[in-house]
Amino acid sequence: MEAYESGDFMALIVQKYGGTSVANTDRIKNVAARVAKYRAQGDQIVVVVSAMSGVTDGLIKLAKEIAPLPSEREMDMLLATGEQQTIALTAIALHALNIPAVSLTGAQAGIVTDGVHTKAKIHNITPKQVHERLDQGNVVIVAGFQGETKDGQITTLGRGGSDLTAIALAAALKADLCQIYTDVDGVYTADPRIVPSAKKLAEISYDEMLELASLGAKVMQSRSVEFAKKFGVVFEVRSSLNDNPGTIVKEETKSMEDVVIRGVSLDKNQAKVTLVAVPDKPGVAARIFKAVGDANVNVDMIVQNISHGSGTPATDLSFTVDKPDLLKARKVIEGLRAEIGYREVIANEGIGKLSIVGVGMKSHSGVAGKLFDVLATAGVNIDMISTSEIKISVVIDLAKGEPAMKAVHAAFIG
Ligand code: ASP
Ligand code: MG
Repeated sequence: MEAYESGDFMALIVQKYGGTSVANTDRIKNVAARVAKYRAQGDQIVVVVSAMSGVTDGLIKLAKEIAPLPSEREMDMLLATGEQQTIALTAIALHALNIPAVSLTGAQAGIVTDGVHTKAKIHNITPKQVHERLDQGNVVIVAGFQGETKDGQITTLGRGGSDLTAIALAAALKADLCQIYTDVDGVYTADPRIVPSAKKLAEISYDEMLELASLGAKVMQSRSVEFAKKFGVVFEVRSSLNDNPGTIVKEETKSMEDVVIRGVSLDKNQAKVTLVAVPDKPGVAARIFKAVGDANVNVDMIVQNISHGSGTPATDLSFTVDKPDLLKARKVIEGLRAEIGYREVIANEGIGKLSIVGVGMKSHSGVAGKLFDVLATAGVNIDMISTSEIKISVVIDLAKGEPAMKAVHAAFIG
């Protein structure tokens, strides 16, 4: 504190507030009050805000009422307005507390992207105006989720993209601290709505966070965590509704390996496609997955059985896709029927993917055996298995998903 007051140490803090944290004017006033508290300690603050919760969805709905496939350039023009409302309102809320504050669009903050509308990637950030406004003593409020191309076209960074704005700005500004404020207290060992004994983690590595996010524990946009890992941005996920410490996300340290399992997640958004009796010969899998990939369907797990039969042997081939892509995947496979010659295709939406994640798996053995044992005791049949260095996932019956998750959490975490 002394140092702050004497002015010889001033921290630069990037704070990002998500949609629920700015959901109405009272919440926006709360944000201003929190910013004011940090500022009173002498820190420089850059605030990144999302659109008020529901606003982006509402704008998308309006466009789709007019046309099912609206122009992506115009969607960016439209969606960028959501964040522009909240930056101005947040600045106004700070002014009401007599704090000098100025709002900047993504473009004004120097966020330059490629030209892929609705899912643009950040090329570079030249935060000249941010520095100038900070140096003049302002809190600077930047619109999340948006940027502009080098030719001045407005772009957006994909859903949830305000997280990326905050992390990328923290990297570009070499911020001392990056705080991601949301409506949960941090990252938990499991979804507390399903597993009441789930605990908040004090820290987690980027890789564990990525596995937990892409496995259904959506706390942050995955791309923003990848970006943070690449540029070494340490950040904290915490709640805007209280003052509890959150979860620190950072590079893996040796002591993190002492804990075998950091978290358990259940992804209910997967579906399984099975091709029955596919000819087992070179090129067949390549043909199938090329066609599926060309249709922009992401495949997660793939399992091929041992072949059976004489002559050209046949095998069953299963893979999982995101549920909304199931129809598309099925259509693609049906289109290959004459060419490949399988017996039938079965689609199953009643699956769940249960995963355990932890960097400690690298140095502890017997984890898979213990997982399978717990599932067996709980009477849960395993349909597919996949593993990485820090993760084991199993596909199980969706109806058994939640009880299985509880049993696995109890066995590994408590
Ligand atoms: N408002 C955008 C969305 O809803 C970006 C964000 O919230 O991060 O996806
Ligand atoms: Mg969000």
